[in-house]
Amino acid sequence: MDALREWSLTLKNLLLPVFCKQCGRWLLTEENGFFCPTCWELTPRIKRPFCTRCGRPHSEVVGFDRPPNFPCASCREKLPAHVRRIYGAARYDGAVSEAIKLFKFHDRPRLAAVLADLMIEFARENMDCAAYDFVVPVPLHRVRERDRGYNQSRLLAKALTLAFAPARLDESLCRIRPTKVQSGLADQKARRANVIGAFAVVGESPFQHATILLVDDVVTTAGTVSECGAALKRAGAAEVDVFAAALAAAPA
Ligand SMILES: [Zn+2]
Ligand SMILES: [Zn+2]
Repeated sequence: MDALREWSLTLKNLLLPVFCKQCGRWLLTEENGFFCPTCWELTPRIKRPFCTRCGRPHSEVVGFDRPPNFPCASCREKLPAHVRRIYGAARYDGAVSEAIKLFKFHDRPRLAAVLADLMIEFARENMDCAAYDFVVPVPLHRVRERDRGYNQSRLLAKALTLAFAPARLDESLCRIRPTKVQSGLADQKARRANVIGAFAVVGESPFQHATILLVDDVVTTAGTVSECGAALKRAGAAEVDVFAAALAAAPA
């Protein structure tokens, strides 16, 4: 860094100090305008081996350079419906869960780039990035999108599209009726009922025989992404994979 830039950064930090959203430490670099390098480095990234269906991490194995992934016990019993597999870049914990809450509920659209970088880091290591025809965000109902000012999944999908070339961003999938925020609902049954029939591809479908990467910020019970997967399949999609910034533990 040249001296002038260093000075202007020092000045900016003095005039407009920014503090780590996780530990409160004063941020002295510009790397990531929200979290200090320590907190972001400690974020619980998902590493191999993880479940080949739901994406949840298995306990770490030592002695393997690239341990093979395999399905978890619950996916061997019952697969997530309508989607081929789910990938998640991190566990919904630590700085990542803080980042997603700020991103979603506290008007911080700039966090899209921070979270997308984490997702791209995961994708390069673990996914076949050239396998998709479309990158499709989980849609918000237009009323909620208007209130929030943006759809967080759309911002993520947009930031990811280049890394998944030749796939194109497409927003034909719509939320055709308003739903409650899934995290506010008590159990799996209520969450499933909340999203049944909520999604559809409106107008002529571009998805005939397509392989789709469906993008969401957090996947918990997979109710939302399953319903989106069903709507995309009704619109002609051949395969739907899901990619989330984080995977949360399902409520009981
Ligand atoms: Zn910190
Ligand atoms: Zn699984």
